[in-house]
Amino acid sequence: MQIRILGTGSGLPELGKHLSSVHVNCRGKQYLLDCGEGSIYQLLRYGVDVNDLDAVVITHFHPDHVAGVFMLVQMLYLQGRSKDLSIFIPERTEEFEGLFSMFYTFPERLCFRLTILPMAELNSKFPDLQAWPNDHLLGYSDVIQKHKYPNQMKAFSIQVHDDKYDFAYSSDIGSTDSIAPMFEGVHTLLVDAGHPAPEQIYKLQNSKLKRILLTHGVSPVLLRELVKQENALYEEAIEGIIYNL
Ligand SMILES: [Zn+2]
Repeated sequence: MQIRILGTGSGLPELGKHLSSVHVNCRGKQYLLDCGEGSIYQLLRYGVDVNDLDAVVITHFHPDHVAGVFMLVQMLYLQGRSKDLSIFIPERTEEFEGLFSMFYTFPERLCFRLTILPMAELNSKFPDLQAWPNDHLLGYSDVIQKHKYPNQMKAFSIQVHDDKYDFAYSSDIGSTDSIAPMFEGVHTLLVDAGHPAPEQIYKLQNSKLKRILLTHGVSPVLLRELVKQENALYEEAIEGIIYNL
């Protein structure tokens, strides 16, 4: 399996860092995990042929994880893609589908079949991919209840299975405890080290993970502390390079 992190930035844009997206090449399939704004430029920069993409997985609906997907579809349309594309989303499938018509990228007029699917169907359509619910959006429950918003607070972390080693992408999380069941068999974890408390990131060294890549706005102090540790379990996630598993 090959992993290329396209964006290590957090929700607060920073020059020199891009928004969340990970390109995964595994057992003959290519996936994009999240598609933050500007992800297409990273795909172009690293020479990823977007026609080869089999599926896009959106872990949750914060703009730094989903806003780039509309430009991706427009680019695929203008490039004349013919292969089917599945986009898996966390919640509200029909409303999300409606956005493509709102943006005049009418699904009926695309030259390829675009399918918007709920996360519950991810593993049956792509058996190497597994979605694990996490606690990232639970803090919104008060405002959602008070204003009766239809938001379902669904956020996921994604595990990618391969013959030898598995890869996991936490995406945004409130705590690493919320995704601990996912670690079984995982070699490399790309983890949000910006939202959880530092103790939650330290705690990961007690799991059986072999490599922990820190992303999404990790503080310089925490990064220095973790990277200087002798076991070299922790690394700062670097955009653009290929991680082989
Ligand atoms: Zn985020």
